[in-house]
Amino acid sequence: MKYIVGNYKMQLTTRETSALVKGVLHGLSLDDVLPEIILCPTFTALPDVQKLIKKTPVNLGAQNVASTGLGAHTGEVAAAQLVDVGCTHTLIGHSERRAAGESGDDVHEKILEALAAGLTPIICVGETATERAADQTNAVITRQITSALTDVAFPRKTPCLIAYEPVWAIGAASPATAAQISEAHSLIRHLLVGLGSVIDDIAVLYGGSVDASNALAILREQEVDGVLVGGASLKIHEFSAIIKAGTAVMTATHV
Ligand code: PEP
Repeated sequence: MKYIVGNYKMQLTTRETSALVKGVLHGLSLDDVLPEIILCPTFTALPDVQKLIKKTPVNLGAQNVASTGLGAHTGEVAAAQLVDVGCTHTLIGHSERRAAGESGDDVHEKILEALAAGLTPIICVGETATERAADQTNAVITRQITSALTDVAFPRKTPCLIAYEPVWAIGAASPATAAQISEAHSLIRHLLVGLGSVIDDIAVLYGGSVDASNALAILREQEVDGVLVGGASLKIHEFSAIIKAGTAVMTATHV
């Protein structure tokens, strides 16, 4: 299986989001072997997108979740409330949130909240340009994965989705190289196996400047189970081409 995740960030109104989602759905060929598609609009657009995707194979994801359950937490959205509007997934630990102060402990708590509510977390990890230049890439990934997932028990059949997103490749001119992606992905797999967590199924996605021109090559990489797409997910033709690349790879490899 290949995963294609669209992260709309804080870019669109509800009306713009619906138009985008309608366009993406229109381009889907239901006769194809489709990758697992997960759309993560802004909170305010979740109910509208849920209505649009209801009878399709597309899944709904949030971009963030509270680290606690329901209660007096102004401005937060609890995992149960995301389930209530139809979410099956949520991003956790995106670098833009970590840069705004989200800690490793916050990420860990959010994962526990998501799993307890029945959401599948998509956990983002990755190093900054400065960390890579200082040869800290493996140390950063190790720290982020370890604090996020040590002793976390995934319910049976809930996959552990990790998105490796080198911060320097997000919104950049080009993605990380195949060698850089492959090295990070194999480290992540190795770490997950050693953590003492209960995980049936591990999928490691790549994120950072994926678009229609490079998706096929990235998805063809053995180590890559999918892509997390920011900017290119806001363009119907780009995102549709990325989905088609997922289909092409899955069809070629009979995954
Ligand atoms: C992201 O921010 O998760 C991302 C992958 O962005 P982009 O595709 O625009 O690099």
